[in-house]
Amino acid sequence: MKSFRRNFLKLLSLTCLSTLLFPYNLLRAVTKKIINPNLTEKQKKIMLKEDTERPYSSPLNQEKREGFFHCANCGAKLFASTAKFDSGTGWPSFTESLPGAFKTKIDYSFGMKRVEYHCAKCGVHHGHVFDDGSTSTQKRFCSNGLCLIFKPKN
Ligand SMILES: [Zn+2]
Repeated sequence: MKSFRRNFLKLLSLTCLSTLLFPYNLLRAVTKKIINPNLTEKQKKIMLKEDTERPYSSPLNQEKREGFFHCANCGAKLFASTAKFDSGTGWPSFTESLPGAFKTKIDYSFGMKRVEYHCAKCGVHHGHVFDDGSTSTQKRFCSNGLCLIFKPKN
């Protein structure tokens, strides 16, 4: 029993130590699954390697119909059209996601601390969420249009 406890403590301290030393690796360890076999190389680069599409390149910037935005990889419903707003940034932007649609992690790339969000169902990267305070929710989900599929109501 004593040795079990000692081993447990050893394991615990090792875990703590590795978390201190490699928090970046642990945070990046999100399981991503490619489900849609028709994804383009550019889509895969964004979804798997956290790349970003060029601003103003997504036709979804102009999308104003009523409906839902789904994950282009797994089809999960992520945003309602009612949450979409024009942020002026050139990327499709939303004030809030549907409940449980995303999981977040801290992204330290480019020397910035940003909150990255990825699909809760398939794990692929979608964009970053900012606390801009200019919307009712104080949030701005800055999405890559290439990761989204819009399905109009009806
Ligand atoms: Zn997904």
